[in-house]
Amino acid sequence: MSYTGPDFEPPQPRRSPLRRPLTVAVAALVPGALLGWGVYAAVGGGSDGGGSDAAGTPATSSATTEPSATVEPSPTAKPSPSDSAPLKGKVVVIDPGHNPANFEHPSQINRKVNVGTHWKECDTTGTATNTGWPEAKFTLDVAHRLRELLEKQGATVKLTQDGDRSYGPCVDERARIGNEAHADAAISIHADGSGAGNRGFHVIMPGAVHDGDADTRAIVAPSAELGESVAGSFVRVTGSAPSNYIGDGTGLNTRTDLGGLNLSTVPKVFIECGNMRDSTDVALLTSGSWRQKAAQGMSEGIVSFLRG
Ligand SMILES: [Zn+2]
Repeated sequence: MSYTGPDFEPPQPRRSPLRRPLTVAVAALVPGALLGWGVYAAVGGGSDGGGSDAAGTPATSSATTEPSATVEPSPTAKPSPSDSAPLKGKVVVIDPGHNPANFEHPSQINRKVNVGTHWKECDTTGTATNTGWPEAKFTLDVAHRLRELLEKQGATVKLTQDGDRSYGPCVDERARIGNEAHADAAISIHADGSGAGNRGFHVIMPGAVHDGDADTRAIVAPSAELGESVAGSFVRVTGSAPSNYIGDGTGLNTRTDLGGLNLSTVPKVFIECGNMRDSTDVALLTSGSWRQKAAQGMSEGIVSFLRG
């Protein structure tokens, strides 16, 4: 869920006439990929720690069920020595959405910060599954997997937070961290909290904004390139279909209300990996093997963007 403050109505997804629905491309992929996925889950590859999450419920007994975060190396991730540093000299900033401790600091996260176009909360708690697994833990888990994949390829990777801050950082600081690192690419990782039946991922790219401290004119085009690259790889690696409720099947959306994008001066996108309130998506989001594929998909998208 990406920071739609109380003072802001979630914007209607804007259809891009240029982008043909990814669904067409996916239509060819999905049966195979999902079939592959189904098989994978059935042989116990899906869940972490041996419990069955084919049914979508994480394998722990506590009330707020929480899948373990063991990192499972994807069979395709073993780069040969010559490919090991395609990202040498590149800087990538990963922004794990929200912070697991935000709910303990309501006054701090509700403080308003300026995002160029308007003022909004410093940060939000994020959403959670119906059984209480917080988005903020999902985002950190995927961020760690992505960092490992990118570092293996020689990139310098920086996280905006690593569960090591009492709250936040605020959305303006999250953008600043990428700017000050002179990131070649930045990605903010989220999972949505929408109505059941709304499924799939979408990538959010910055629209053109030039207001106050916000000036995205120079990053709109490279961020769109990064966004399309990440969306394409995400479909290919995870086999998951793009959102059926935002982006008209393109898996892409453009917004001008997110502080993390408005204040960025480097190519940056947000990704909503799925809907934490839909049981079908939750079966994927709570599976370590799927999260590894999600990270792999993001990594391949970033690599092909950076290699141009
Ligand atoms: Zn979020």
